[in-house]
Amino acid sequence: MHIDPAVYVRKAIRSVPDWPKPGVTFRDITPVLQDPRTFRVLIDLFVYRYMRQRLDLVAGVDARGFIVGSVLAYELNLGFVPVRKKGKLPYRTLAEDYTLEYGNAAVEMHTDAVRPGQRVLLIDDLVATGGTMLAASKLLQRLGANVHEAAAIIELPDLGGAQAMRDSGIPVYSVCSFS
Ligand code: AMP
Repeated sequence: MHIDPAVYVRKAIRSVPDWPKPGVTFRDITPVLQDPRTFRVLIDLFVYRYMRQRLDLVAGVDARGFIVGSVLAYELNLGFVPVRKKGKLPYRTLAEDYTLEYGNAAVEMHTDAVRPGQRVLLIDDLVATGGTMLAASKLLQRLGANVHEAAAIIELPDLGGAQAMRDSGIPVYSVCSFS
């Protein structure tokens, strides 16, 4: 391939203006997943980054983080654990609340999803304000895990979330960004 793989992936992301509300541009990754080549390029970018790093688990954030996270975990020969929206997990859970632009949300994990000291790669499709990833990181840390890095396909630097996470000591890797 003559084109930078990250640029190739970025070009496939569809920007939908004013969705879900006026003023928001939704960065839609479904075209990346739909095309087998872009999907493979995307996963391979993550695989090459993490294949030589000592990791124990991949934790994917509900819901698009499940799609990339589970394929990546499979490729890296690691287990996968879901970080779910509140009220979806059947066993004993721990929750972390966070604030959205309007109202509150919470992410939840099974208390036995990670063991203390495990090195976990956290993954989602996009980091905007960072609220979701930060809450997921806190949850993992409360369960005793080490958050090795937070990975995303897209970072929105203007919203400062990825930088806030880096400032709080959690490295963030994103394939591409949109301003
Ligand atoms: P935040 O907690 O503000 O970092 O938002 C991240 C979460 O909201 C991720 O799970 C994203 O899927 C979703 N999200 C936020 N903003 C956008 C956007 N502009 N386009 C697509 N997804 C978004």
